[in-house]
Parts: sequence; C-alpha cells; structure tokens
Amino acid sequence: MSADPDLVVVGSGFFGLTVAERAATELGKRVLVIERRSHLGGNAYSEPDPETGIEVHRYGAHLFHTSNTRVWEYVNRFTDFTGYQHRVFTIYQGRVYPMPVNLATICEYAGRAMSPDEARAWVAEHAAEIDVDDAQNFEEKGVALVGRPLYEAFFAGYTAKQWQTDPKELPASIVSRLPVRYTFDNRYFSDTYEGLPVDGYTAWLERMADHPLIEVRLDTDWFDMRDSLPADVPTVYTGPLDRYFDFSEGELGWRTLDFEPEVLTTTGDFQGTPVMNYADRDVAYTRIHEFRHFHPERKHYPTDKTIIMKEYSRFAESGDEPYYPINTAEDRAKLERYRELARKEATNRRVLFGGRLGTYKYLDMHMAIGSALTLFENRIAPWFTEGES
Ligand code: UDP
Repeated sequence: MSADPDLVVVGSGFFGLTVAERAATELGKRVLVIERRSHLGGNAYSEPDPETGIEVHRYGAHLFHTSNTRVWEYVNRFTDFTGYQHRVFTIYQGRVYPMPVNLATICEYAGRAMSPDEARAWVAEHAAEIDVDDAQNFEEKGVALVGRPLYEAFFAGYTAKQWQTDPKELPASIVSRLPVRYTFDNRYFSDTYEGLPVDGYTAWLERMADHPLIEVRLDTDWFDMRDSLPADVPTVYTGPLDRYFDFSEGELGWRTLDFEPEVLTTTGDFQGTPVMNYADRDVAYTRIHEFRHFHPERKHYPTDKTIIMKEYSRFAESGDEPYYPINTAEDRAKLERYRELARKEATNRRVLFGGRLGTYKYLDMHMAIGSALTLFENRIAPWFTEGES
C-alpha cells in the first residue's frame, strides 16, 4: 500500500472481509487487512486435498445458511451457491438416528410408529421433571425439549465430549441451537436460504478481498507490527478480545478442536453422508466429516478414494486455536469487564471489536457477516462521513 491506510482490519475472516469490502467499495477507503495465518478466511477457509482434489474444510465443516435476505443478497455478489441442504445422522449404541431430533428419531428410538401428537405426548411424559420455561441450563433445557431418554442418548454423551463441562453449567442457548421437530423434516437448519459456494469458500473469500483499495498482509501478527502503523488509524479488531487487553481481566475460556484427516484408498464412500455424529461416550471423537458428500454435483471427484476427518474437542490452552466460547458464569463476568474496556477503546481510539473471537460469541457465518454489515453502517461509515457534509 503506497499511502497510509484509512482503516486497518485485524483478521481476514468473514467479519473482517465484510468490513474491508464495504469500506473499499462503498466509501473508497484504503483498507489494510492484517492476517496472522498464511491464508484468508479464518476458519471458513477450505482447500482441495492434493491427493484426491476433494475440497476439505480445514477448520471443520462450514455450511452456509441464513434467513436474512440482506445477508443472502450480499453474499450472492461474490459467489453462487449449490442447492446443498445439510443433514446429519448420529450413531448411538450401534444404531443410526437422524439429527436434529425429529419424528423419525423419536419413532426409531421408541421402536414404533407414532403420529406427531403421540410423539409429543411421549416426549412430554418423559420430560415431566421440568417445564421448558423454567429450564435454566443445557441439561434442563435439553430434557425439557426432548425428554430424559433422548437427552441421555443423543445429547449427554456427545456434549460430555464436546464440552467436558457439567451440562448444568452450560447455557441453555447451546442446546437451543438445534430445532426439535414433530415432523419427518430432518434438515439440520431451518433457514430460508442454504447452500455451499459453487467453487469453494476460498474463491468466495478471495473475491471479497479482490479490490484495488484492499491490501491483505498474510503471515503477519498485528501485535508485532501495530507500532509501525499510524497511531490514530481507525481499526476493526477481530482477534481474541482478551489478548487485545493483554489478558488484564483474565483469560476467557475456549474449547478447541483437533482434526484428523485421512485419505481412504479402500473405498470411495466411507459413511454415505457428509457428517456422522457419535453420541457414545466411549468413542473419543464427536463426529466424522466425509467431504465428498458436501458436493455431490462435482463429477470430477474420484470414485475409488475418499477423505474423512475425525473431530475431537478439548479445552484450549495457550497457543491452541479458540473455537467455541465456553461461557461459564466466570467467563461472563470477565466478558462484562472486557466489554467495558472495549467501549472505552471505541470512544478513545476508534477501535471496534467484531467477529467470534473479538466478541466472544459463537457466530455462524451469516451472523458474522450480518453483524459486520450493521457495524459498518452504524459505526464505521460515520467515522469517515461525519463532518464531510
Ligand atoms: N449436540 C449434541 N448432540 C448432537 C449434536 C449436538 O449433544 O448430536 C449438542 C452439543 O452440545 C453441541 C450443541 O448441541 O455443542 C449445538 O450443536 P451444533 O450442531 O449447533 O454445534 P456445531 O455444529 O456448531 O458444533
């Protein structure tokens, strides 16, 4: 970048790229995007596996879905989407069930055909111990929604592996991410729009950054070079919130994931579906992804090989990639204090915080993009346009 940037964006995930794209396209501002990793896109990044050519989501499967028309129209400027609809199955004690819990799951578990009303009555009978409106935590909410037997089968073991935290300590909002349906609709998401980028996430992300006023500097840790930037340059920071403040209020708790990719040459189809969850506690991984199934329309994928990826979850230690905010009561207290510091930073130094790491919120991609569009309009654009008219 020949001249000093008008705006610095720390992190090139969907939040950061949306802000950068808007500032360059809408306001004609020079944007410098600083990215610690050697590639764009944060955890949405994907790349073809060199051996099979199959597109692999290196940081776990990313499925795009939204009911927000504004977000949908915005993302469609950069990519077309396939008609992919996400469906997940789970293995529990050697049998396969559809997830999220729907009429087929309930009938299969109970071992008999039930009408929607019968299934509702069956669940209500097994959920009598708690009223859904009184449910205060993950376990109470889970039991209230699907009844104790299904909770124990499909949520208790999986969640023990995913969070290693007493489900009474986890927020009810985690389990509320999943719908419960008294129909045979087994789609994972209930959103209006859904699909996968036709030519992959990386092509999409690169198009967002492809603007003469945007410079992306990869392999660069902003903390190592911030002193070389003009001190008063407006900044959007999407890195970890606690790190920005040098952990002054303590470390926020995160779960990290370990992925074990494997090319299989003995079969072209390992599991017949993109994602299989493993509900049993004695299976160490939470799920297996099989990437070929995300793109059934890609006829060039080999038929005699496939690539699978086992996913394991554990507490993040320093140096690990943070994935899921744990959000214990202690975390929430620290977060309040960090938010107060962030508010002051916004006023005093024109630094705004966004994205999953910068707000300590588990954001789906469409949420990151939607909140970036809103932040751009309400907070960032006024930095530049106020005083101009
Ligand atoms: N969950 C579960 N069993 C499943 C799928 C999900 O117990 O088969 C719980 C688990 O605690 C998880 C939460 O529901 O963290 C939310 O699931 P979601 O699929 O939204 O998680 P993600 O795919 O984002 O990791």
